[in-house]
Amino acid sequence: MMFMVANFCFPSSWPNSSQRTELHKTPSVHFSFGIHPRTVNSSSSSNLHRHLTDLEYLVQLAIGECGLDTSDRNVNLSKQIEYLEKQLQLALKNSLPVVIHCRGNDALHLTLLTSLVNCCPKEQKIHWHCFTSSQEIYLTASGHFINLVFGITPFIFGNRYPNIREIIKENGIDRLVLESDAPYIKYKENQIPNPYIVNFVAEEISKLLNIPVEQVFEITFTNTQKYMERGSRDEELTVFVVYMFISLYEETVYIYSVLRVILRIFLYLIFLF
Ligand SMILES: [Zn+2]
Repeated sequence: MMFMVANFCFPSSWPNSSQRTELHKTPSVHFSFGIHPRTVNSSSSSNLHRHLTDLEYLVQLAIGECGLDTSDRNVNLSKQIEYLEKQLQLALKNSLPVVIHCRGNDALHLTLLTSLVNCCPKEQKIHWHCFTSSQEIYLTASGHFINLVFGITPFIFGNRYPNIREIIKENGIDRLVLESDAPYIKYKENQIPNPYIVNFVAEEISKLLNIPVEQVFEITFTNTQKYMERGSRDEELTVFVVYMFISLYEETVYIYSVLRVILRIFLYLIFLF
């Protein structure tokens, strides 16, 4: 049985009440809600105010993703900082962990860390999702926050962020959790991003550190449990954690793609025999 956390960080994809009821029926799937910095960038103040009010009602297990992102052309950084800090305050008010998103240069990561330090106590539970920053930021953040974990995604593969592998080799996995970041990050070209890719991420970490993959699952699961502050450990749980994004649209695309692959295999077999 898997333990999964789905991050609903785009208000347009937040599930409605009947969808949330359905999601609650799968006890191994937990979810967080947040307002992504790219949404902050592209939304009017009145819409953001409404999203924040909705978020106060929706918050359950964790808040996020929230954070900073300079991927878009016209970035309103002060607005992103404002809504990041509003969401941090909401997490504090409800004693909830936060899921942090940061995409940009090291200066941006430092700006984000400054907001975290200014707004949160050292004990705040933080999941720094899809960590791509430097060893310096890793050490400063983990030295200050005792309950901070970093998410390792399929960005561990390829040459775009070589520092991820260096940080793991230098610091081990005591602060890491596994993420797929599906449906956004591809493990390989022509491959559909999906939550099961965390298996490959775990295998890569095990190769890097020369430790059994079971140990990677074990430790990253314990890290997630600490961060999520779940009750006593269910021994039957297989020890891995999947972070994914879900929206009905994306699910539909995913199911459609899987069916297409099955159909292709079927046609291939017919052709073969
Ligand atoms: Zn993200």
